[in-house]
Amino acid sequence: MIDVKTAFLLWVIQANTLAILLIAIWLHARDQRHFLWFGLGFLLHASGLGLVGIRGQIPDFLSIQVANTISLVGFSLWAKGLAALDHRPAPRLIWIPPTLWIVLNLVPFIRDEFAFRVSLYNAGASIGFLMLAVIASRARFSTSRNRALLTFLWGAQAIAGIGYTVFVLFQRPTSFSDNFFGMWMGTIAVIGFITSVVILAKITMDRSEEQLQALVRTDPLTGALNRRGFAEAYQGLVESSPLDTLGVLVFDLDHFKQINDRHGHTTGDRVLQEFAQVCRSLLPQRAVFARTGGEEFAAVLAISEPRDAALFAETVRLALADRSIPTDDEAISVTTSVGISVSPLRSANLDHLLSEADLALYTAKAQGRNRTSVRAGNRIVTVPPSREESPLQEVDRQADRQVAILNRISAVAHNLED
Ligand code: GH3
Ligand code: MG
Ligand code: MG
Repeated sequence: MIDVKTAFLLWVIQANTLAILLIAIWLHARDQRHFLWFGLGFLLHASGLGLVGIRGQIPDFLSIQVANTISLVGFSLWAKGLAALDHRPAPRLIWIPPTLWIVLNLVPFIRDEFAFRVSLYNAGASIGFLMLAVIASRARFSTSRNRALLTFLWGAQAIAGIGYTVFVLFQRPTSFSDNFFGMWMGTIAVIGFITSVVILAKITMDRSEEQLQALVRTDPLTGALNRRGFAEAYQGLVESSPLDTLGVLVFDLDHFKQINDRHGHTTGDRVLQEFAQVCRSLLPQRAVFARTGGEEFAAVLAISEPRDAALFAETVRLALADRSIPTDDEAISVTTSVGISVSPLRSANLDHLLSEADLALYTAKAQGRNRTSVRAGNRIVTVPPSREESPLQEVDRQADRQVAILNRISAVAHNLED
């Protein structure tokens, strides 16, 4: 069996290597703070244990009081890292382990006896593991299986640590070499440590993979889904919707080429972003929204009846027309035409629905743009635009507007239902 000092040294080297690696990762991805906290946690934990390992070669105060404080702060930083991984602030309770150590070291009879200090350190470490277990059990990151594994591992280490704390209180060893059971505890700690590092590495790798996958499905300019993301999200909607009808809407901004020509491509891009924002803010719960082409967007809605799709289209159309978009020289307003097709959910086919909606869109364009047309059976029905579409000033007029939209849709509703 290797001696305690060598074991300490190996542990310190291993943890410090990991610390450097984690901090290096953080330097390349500054927004991923958990790498920083985990890295600093290992650095402090290992440095503290390193100072304990060279006991006798440095002043006792450094290798006992300072060393154990630093080492226990490591637990606080791990807890902070775990909370950061979960996108939550860390609770103040994470500082309990080092605080407990510092406060009880002010008590002379505890400070002066090796066994009491070892017990105290292990009690602090057990609380540290308990905190990690609680944070993991309440977290939302990764899969429930990975969270349960981490909770179990850290929970088990907390219990083993408490057992060891009590054992040392009764056995009263006077030095590390007088403490055979401590080596077994160390072995358990190393196994727990390696296993939890492996699980955490898997969690962060899975997360990078998810972020990459999300990028592949997203349009970088507007943040809407791209065509690929659209097809997948459509499938998800069809499989999970409790409603039995689907509405597919295609939006094409009116005279968009002119906007580019008059105000420049950057303003054009800005308009596309504004449109996506308007649409997303109004999107109902069971819906998918995507940019399907240059100035073309599409939405799929799970609905109860065709008029729900028309209501959404008209709400978006009027909200866009209301919006005044600042450019370098003047504020401009933009309009969109909308084509809609509707199908029972069970027989829905996305490509077919999109081409039917496109037919309706051509009609909306041909009839003067800035309007909504619906493909219903073999007909195309255009929602009559209101005579007066003055800009909205107050919130309560929004309700009036919804009623007005519904009235206009009702005028053609008998044509939508067949
Ligand atoms: P209509 O009312 O008939 O739809 O006319 P339009 O001018 O909107 O249609 P057209 O298809 O003639 O022009 C679309 C323009 O959209 C042409 C293209 O340069 C522009 N466009 C496509 N993608 C982008 C983009 O990412 N950014 C910007 N700024 N413009 C784009
Ligand atoms: Mg177009
Ligand atoms: Mg257009």
